[in-house]
Amino acid sequence: MVFAFPNLYSVGIASLGYQVVWRLLKGCPELRVARLFMDLAEPLPPDRELVGFSFSWELDFTNILTLLTQLQIPLSAHERSHDHPLVFGGGPVLTANPEPFADFFDVVLLGDGEELVPEFVRAYAQVRHLDRAHQLQHLSQVAGVYIPSLYQVTYLSPTGGVAQIQALTPAPATVTKRTWRGDHLSASTVVTPHSAWENIYMVEVVRSCPELCRFCLASYLTLPFRTAPVTGSLLPLIEAGLRVTSRLGLLGASVTQHPEFEQVLDYLAEPQFEQIHLSVSSVRANTLTPKMTQTLASRGANSVTIAVETGSERLRQVINKKLTNPEIETCAGIVAEGGLKGLKLYGMVGLPSEETADLAATLDLLTRLRQAQRGLRLSFGCSTFVPKAHTPFQVYGVDRQAEKKLELFARRLPKIGVDFRPESYGWSVMQALISRGDRRVGQVLRQVHQTGASLGTFRRAFKELKGQLPPLEHYVHDDWSGQVLPWQHLLGPVAEGVLTRHLETARAQM
Ligand code: SF4
Repeated sequence: MVFAFPNLYSVGIASLGYQVVWRLLKGCPELRVARLFMDLAEPLPPDRELVGFSFSWELDFTNILTLLTQLQIPLSAHERSHDHPLVFGGGPVLTANPEPFADFFDVVLLGDGEELVPEFVRAYAQVRHLDRAHQLQHLSQVAGVYIPSLYQVTYLSPTGGVAQIQALTPAPATVTKRTWRGDHLSASTVVTPHSAWENIYMVEVVRSCPELCRFCLASYLTLPFRTAPVTGSLLPLIEAGLRVTSRLGLLGASVTQHPEFEQVLDYLAEPQFEQIHLSVSSVRANTLTPKMTQTLASRGANSVTIAVETGSERLRQVINKKLTNPEIETCAGIVAEGGLKGLKLYGMVGLPSEETADLAATLDLLTRLRQAQRGLRLSFGCSTFVPKAHTPFQVYGVDRQAEKKLELFARRLPKIGVDFRPESYGWSVMQALISRGDRRVGQVLRQVHQTGASLGTFRRAFKELKGQLPPLEHYVHDDWSGQVLPWQHLLGPVAEGVLTRHLETARAQM
């Protein structure tokens, strides 16, 4: 088989997900695996039966279509015959909502790969000599394996929403995402100077996040919260990694929420690790301690990143972000006292029910932080709220005023000495389209692939396909309350009824 990452080698090999699935595939005795990237490839087997993609960034879809073309595989699953390999994909983009890509994949693997990947390979090995239709029917029986062609979607009208999604026998009516419940999480299998994160050894400290911020895919779709055992797994992995490199990355949605994180830091504070360079992904502001910042500073870290979302206490309640402004201000003090040079804050504009007063509260908070911590480099990265499938806020559209709100911050923040790093509004619109797209969006993607992905090419494609699917506004901006969702047949770990209850609680707080 060919296992592809639809981007450069340096990007793909920096993805812990790609590394882990590659290791799982290499562990399948039935398989011979060749890796493929946009700029590099191992010798590809001429008689390949499977072509897999690890899909972790939405706009890489154009690279997937390019690679399929290079491999002489028809882009549409229904145009492929038994002479073509089965095309499968997995990863965060497909697990969140595979529907815009349904036409391109014969098989989609939903969820954690640890058990799913070997089970899929074993199931395929049982039917590799059967015809394609029987192969797909057989694979549809594996938990977490989704065969898009075995589901029929009907629409209210050519330009209306989804009416019904029906499974074709023998596919199950719904497919539930697979969750790995074993007691170890993942770590790098490759350390290389050619990675975008040069020579880094990555260790997953926690998986998911128990905080349930109502917009957050990294929480709702990946529950339950899992932590790697410290003595049985985390420390031996770190020790093994530090034997081959001095750069260590601790990964997870919120690593400081690991109940024994202090023990990991104590270990890394030992004299033999004086020369290492440690980086941690985002931390929760109210879990940061002076010991953590001191250890991070003594191990080469310059700054920490915290997600505050907004300076408005009211809006934080609406989104269920259990963090207060005084806690953020205390956190900034701990960062400065620990000897770190910078604090990166992340926020969002366009959260449901946001008003001018909420934006003013964000500016006030950043002003207070600036005045209290003169010596600290402060930056504010800001994106636009994008609705994500399987979260309580999946029904809300992107705020049409979001671009103006970003412009307001861009004018005001440099004046108070905060480095403002906005994410492009156009990119958020494209993300929202992919995030809430149904199968008809596949035609748009094919068209955009010819011309290069930008907001302009997406808009042009919608214009050219007018009458064949709803307008861009339907996917991006409309409120979808009460509608059949394109991913209704694909289940995450949180039941639809629970998501609705969480949404109602948020509405009551608006
Ligand atoms: S704390 Fe961060 S990772 Fe956790 S649910 Fe909230 S936004 Fe998501």
